[in-house]
Amino acid sequence: MSRVVVVGSGVVGMLSAYLLALENVSVVLFERFQAGNESSWAGGGIVSPLYPWRYSPAVTALAHWSQDFYPRLGEQLLAQTQIDPEVYVTGLYWLDLDEEAEALAWAQREGRPLQSVDVAVVERAVPALAKGFGRAVQMADVANVRNPRLVKALRAALQQMPNVTLHEHCAVSGFIREGGRITGVHTAQGDMYADQVVLAAGAWSGELMKTLGIELPVVPVKGQMILYKCAEDFLPTIVLAKGRYAIPRRDGHILIGSTLEHAGFDKTPTDEALASLKASAIELLPALADAEVVGHWAGLRPGSPEGIPFIGSVPGHDGLWLNCGHYRNGLVLAPASCQLLADLMLGREPIVDPAPYAPAGRLVSAG
Ligand SMILES: Cc1cc2nc3c(=O)[nH]c(=O)nc-3n(C[C@H](O)[C@H](O)[C@H](O)COP(=O)(O)OP(=O)(O)OC[C@H]3O[C@@H](n4cnc5c(N)ncnc54)[C@H](O)[C@@H]3O)c2cc1C
Repeated sequence: MSRVVVVGSGVVGMLSAYLLALENVSVVLFERFQAGNESSWAGGGIVSPLYPWRYSPAVTALAHWSQDFYPRLGEQLLAQTQIDPEVYVTGLYWLDLDEEAEALAWAQREGRPLQSVDVAVVERAVPALAKGFGRAVQMADVANVRNPRLVKALRAALQQMPNVTLHEHCAVSGFIREGGRITGVHTAQGDMYADQVVLAAGAWSGELMKTLGIELPVVPVKGQMILYKCAEDFLPTIVLAKGRYAIPRRDGHILIGSTLEHAGFDKTPTDEALASLKASAIELLPALADAEVVGHWAGLRPGSPEGIPFIGSVPGHDGLWLNCGHYRNGLVLAPASCQLLADLMLGREPIVDPAPYAPAGRLVSAG
């Protein structure tokens, strides 16, 4: 395989490129704006689905592989770029969870360290937590990754690799098709030919597939978050209640997320979301009532049916591969998803059964 073009440079496009480049593939990435500034920057970075037991085995398989891989990835990128993605193992407490029995059964089945914990124990471990919660469940090994640093490190790593070219501020407008084969892309700076093309354009992937007359069910789902800056020891763990969470970074930044909105490609932060996120923050951690909100933003998740990403080749369009549609879990799923794609492209034994993610049978031809 002499040249691969990757369309989109979020965590999925960049990590796909990185893993292929480590295998001596020559990779050219195209990014409409600056690499890593969309959903992969905007997310919270919890290295677990929020309610892992609600997902299919397909999502669980990728999540588990990635969770084990993340610490190594963090160390590798830090050594290579001096940028620390801060993979921070804090654990996660779910408070007043209605599905405790499902969660415990799932954990037993999957061999994950999830357990019921006395609320008094949680209150001692997390003094800032609001009083009055009745029940708690903990998964002690959950980490969060500082995703803006992760994408910065990936970008820096790619820029150091001699067999990688990153074209930023260069949008792809469509694919070059010759017979039944995709042989490159049309870009704002001209055509680029390639042996293989990977579409990793996040929430925008569906728009590009439309240019081939294919309906890819990947849609933007807006998510807003707010940020506080507290003392470093204010919150030692991730806490989650009623679908809203607080994530501590190592330096005392606390992220509160998130909304789920169907608003097309609009990414404007709103006053309603700000008020609602602030209320959730105070409900979880009352001391935040006196703290200043130091950030508020929105990102577009690449929503897909059941949150199962599309990973694999596109039938009838040889040379075209998808790695998109990671919905709420793109940061946790990315390592496994990108390794699986690389395995498939390089004809190697795949890390997990690729069948559930295959585009075949999940796309509709508009023609
Ligand atoms: C508020 C919020 C909270 C989240 N929290 C978490 C979490 O805690 N844990 C977790 O695992 N996930 C979380 N996510 C989800 C996660 O952020 C996404 O699933 C993931 O970032 C998707 O990565 P991506 O690379 O596919 O997309 P993106 O990061 O959006 O990257 C796609 C890239 O493609 C580029 N592009 C688009 N069209 C073109 C084109 N035509 N030509 C060239 N380039 C193009 C875009 O500019 C963009 O840079 C969250 C998301 C949000 C919004």
